[in-house]
Amino acid sequence: SAPTDRPAPPPTALTIAGTDSGGGAGLAADLRTFFACGVHGLAAVTAVTVQNSLGVTGFTEIPADVVAGQIRSVAEDIGVGAAKTGMLASAEIIHAVAEACRDVGIGGAGPTPFVVDPVAASMHGDPLLRENALDALRTELFPLATLLTPNLDEVRLLTGIDVRDRSDQRRAAQLLHALGPKWVLVKGGHLWTDPDCVDLLHDGREFIELPGPRFPTQHTHGSGDTLASATAAALVKGADMVEAVRYGKAFVVRAVHDAYPLGAGIGPVSAFW
Ligand code: PLP
Repeated sequence: SAPTDRPAPPPTALTIAGTDSGGGAGLAADLRTFFACGVHGLAAVTAVTVQNSLGVTGFTEIPADVVAGQIRSVAEDIGVGAAKTGMLASAEIIHAVAEACRDVGIGGAGPTPFVVDPVAASMHGDPLLRENALDALRTELFPLATLLTPNLDEVRLLTGIDVRDRSDQRRAAQLLHALGPKWVLVKGGHLWTDPDCVDLLHDGREFIELPGPRFPTQHTHGSGDTLASATAAALVKGADMVEAVRYGKAFVVRAVHDAYPLGAGIGPVSAFW
């Protein structure tokens, strides 16, 4: 048919993340989430992990200038509607990502919403971030974030707060907000004593509690990536932050509900619908 019959292009979202050879988390989770949300996924690869359902046995970093180059390349030509980060691996990569994002208007005072998921370790406890990189994350990336989405293990690493109840969760959200992100979502999924999995959203003024069901499954690999990506997809489609996080949460609830076993360890969350 004639070129004029082609549909309008979908909105775009960029993931800045590592690969998972098992296809459960990282880049694979982000791109399939974008697809399921009707968004064209762009990808800046930061690291290649050696990984299966039993854990991460190693990774290698992509050179920092190549990571920044991927971001600049797609921003200049295709355009980035929203962006999210996952595994950033090293201080050098964090520095290069922050600089490239500032230059192309991702996060900070720029027009492009920026979801920063401060990935530090896998669910198995395998490191995904070099030890010296936490400071770079805090000082260079957090001030650019439109939304910061730590889980409780990341909260402990970043703030020293061992969250045991809702008041700890609020204190952690305030501390993290003071580091520069516009919004903070302190995810409660790892608070095993809480049957409601309350995620706490904070913008420096109000606290919004987002409860959700807890499913009796161990298969939650990639759930954090999926929440951040679905939220970024909602932001690019024009949702405000509260709507976007509610959408992201509903998406990941369904993804965990439909998670499937794969390999002998922890299976991935699903986006088969
Ligand atoms: N591998 C990569 C590349 C990731 O980005 C992540 C999480 O962000 C993981 C593994 C760990 O995923 P999970 O904690 O869901 O097992």
